[in-house]
Amino acid sequence: MEKIIIIGSGPAGYTAAIYAARANMNPLLMDGGLPTGPGDLGAGGQLMITTEVENYPGFKEGITGPGLMDEMRAQSLRFGTRIVEDRVTRADLSRRPFQLWVNEDRYEAQVIIICTGANAKWLGIPSEAALMNRGVSACATCDGSLPIFRNQPLLVVGGGDTAMEEALYLTRHASKVTIVHRRDQLRASRIMQQRAMDHPKIEFAWNSVIQEIHDVSLGRVSGATLRDVKTGETRLVEASGVFLAIGHSPNSEIFKGQLEMDEVGYLVTHRDVRTSRYAVFAAGDVQDRVYRQAVTAAGTGCMAALEAIRLIESEGANIMEAGTEW
Ligand code: NDP
Repeated sequence: MEKIIIIGSGPAGYTAAIYAARANMNPLLMDGGLPTGPGDLGAGGQLMITTEVENYPGFKEGITGPGLMDEMRAQSLRFGTRIVEDRVTRADLSRRPFQLWVNEDRYEAQVIIICTGANAKWLGIPSEAALMNRGVSACATCDGSLPIFRNQPLLVVGGGDTAMEEALYLTRHASKVTIVHRRDQLRASRIMQQRAMDHPKIEFAWNSVIQEIHDVSLGRVSGATLRDVKTGETRLVEASGVFLAIGHSPNSEIFKGQLEMDEVGYLVTHRDVRTSRYAVFAAGDVQDRVYRQAVTAAGTGCMAALEAIRLIESEGANIMEAGTEW
């Protein structure tokens, strides 16, 4: 039986591994394996599709997303973390030790830390995939201040709080931000709607969807064809960037029916990192629908590891039932 299995290899997972390994817990980390597409990024998670990370403290000149994940992985290995380069396919959290499967291989753990993240949703059109990281992004806070977007017109897709927040953030750098929304009413909270509507640099393209992003042949974003969903009319708009803000999907599928989650699938945590099941912790984006930053994920990864270490030390050889209250 493993003391601690960490599922996931984003900032939360690696940070949990660094803390657990330094506390001699000999953690095993399942890294998610190879990516299978934009909705399934595999090892490293969302940071693997982030170009420059300029807001992670400690890197004053910034660092690439994949570079940051390489550093974290190397740091976790340095203290003895063992890494399984594959994804967990099934979990049984009904009794302890908990059981996890990677295809046919079964693992047992006294404590589990879930750091499986949340993937940004994408439109699913070919030009979007072709121009990803070349002007197409799903994170304005990560990419918005890059030079290619400075003083340029930009598009934000979505009508929720994230879209409003990202559009407002982008106004610091852009010449103009157009929010493209598929309906004529926003889903965002009233205060965020008002802020966006009042902003002189923000415009709205109502009842509109992106049909195509240009220009794949140039290898950069030069604009998009918008389609009015009511009239079917199309029009070309100029833009140097397209920011998707159409929601995230937390990677919690394998825990359905076993852990409390909200209507979207985010794991519900109390006391910051405790799930509804004793000795199962969650950290990072899989339990955070608000901040979703590398630094906040790392922070909760640290908290989950410290809590896990405390739990293991307090249990000693006396392993409590999975249904224990906490
Ligand atoms: P939401 O699910 O709230 O909004 C997603 C938006 O994207 C909706 O307007 C939806 O349109 C649109 N959309 C979804 N799929 C498509 C598609 N395929 N094509 C075009 N448009 C699409 O996600 P958010 O990320 O905005 O917010 C998630 C949660 O996080 C919310 O509870 C939000 O309040 C919270 N949040 C809070 C913040 C804060 O308080 N500062 C900041 C950010 C998020 P439609 O409306 O038609 O369904």
